Amino acid sequence: MFIINGIVYAETGKIENGYLQIEGNKIIGYGAMSELPTTKEAEVIDANGQLIVPGFVDQHIHGAAGVDTMDASIEGLTRFAQTLPKEGTTTFLATTMTQSIAAIDAALAATRTFIESHNQPGQAQIAGIHLEGPFINCAYKGAQPEEYIINPSIEMMQHFIDVAGPGNIKLVTYAPEVAEAGFVEFLVANNIVPSVGHSSATFAEVEKDFDNGLTNITHFHNASSGHHHRTPGVVTAGFGLDLTVEIICDGVHLHPDVVKTVKKVKGSDKIVLVTDSMSAKGLEDGDYSLGGQKVIKVGNEARLEDGTLAGSVAEMNSCACNMKNFTGATVEEVIAMTASNAARSLGMDTKGTLAIGKDADVVIMTPEYQIEATICQGVLAK
Ligand code: FE
Repeated sequence: MFIINGIVYAETGKIENGYLQIEGNKIIGYGAMSELPTTKEAEVIDANGQLIVPGFVDQHIHGAAGVDTMDASIEGLTRFAQTLPKEGTTTFLATTMTQSIAAIDAALAATRTFIESHNQPGQAQIAGIHLEGPFINCAYKGAQPEEYIINPSIEMMQHFIDVAGPGNIKLVTYAPEVAEAGFVEFLVANNIVPSVGHSSATFAEVEKDFDNGLTNITHFHNASSGHHHRTPGVVTAGFGLDLTVEIICDGVHLHPDVVKTVKKVKGSDKIVLVTDSMSAKGLEDGDYSLGGQKVIKVGNEARLEDGTLAGSVAEMNSCACNMKNFTGATVEEVIAMTASNAARSLGMDTKGTLAIGKDADVVIMTPEYQIEATICQGVLAK
């Protein structure tokens, strides 16, 4: 396959009028249109002068199109994976939430089955699981149901790893201040990215885990202790320590000026854009459910009945466009925040940039981040 006549944002730099060559599920070449190889019988996609960028990696997404990871359904996960290329996402972590152990086990087992035998070219790939809850703090539960919240425990974490299958849990959101000693070290030893979230931790509590391998903060500013000059919290730690921070850049979860501030302090290499979207994304306004709770979707907001934000209904490409509009971020910076940073921190060496030998996960989009086409593992998504 050749994608021709586009601005190619390759790992090695931008090519103004270029092409990208794909064979099977890999990128095998790219260059200027003047050097386009003449090959017979290749599928050609004309980018018509638009941008050719790496497919987005969404490491925090609960659902879309009426499906939630917690539904524990192969059919549902298939619909989930098929709908995401529309927003430019080619790789994601199916994200669980606080529920009974049995319900979490069911979601982990279904996602494991999907990863083992249902990932296919032409649809977004489930690369693993983000376990969000039950290891959080009731004080910052957000939209997570309180009755099922438990303190982070190594024994329970080992149980979840056993159910999910080796290597499938890639990221765990947890509250360090209520965690068993050694919890963060246990995650690191299992190649799992530890992420502080739904937490009332002080700066010092975050820093202690940072010294032991903590690298990430879940939806920075949302559902955590903040930044106060006499009681420094998770937000202070996010600014003050060399941590990567997730941002829900939907214009609802964070004020644009806060996004601008985060971008200025952290820089584009320490920000990961996530949607944190729930099942109502892409559907009409109305009543939906999240972890057994009623959620009301109106426009671009989804809230519990008490008004608490219940995840987002945002698409990755609109979050990326917001980032550009709020901060003036360049395309290269947005690529870092939508693809490269997450791929790197999750240890997905074959994803996140356009380079020879990498997976053919490619988005063709306008400068305003409207998606023209998405190629997943070398196959054009329908
Ligand atoms: Fe959350």
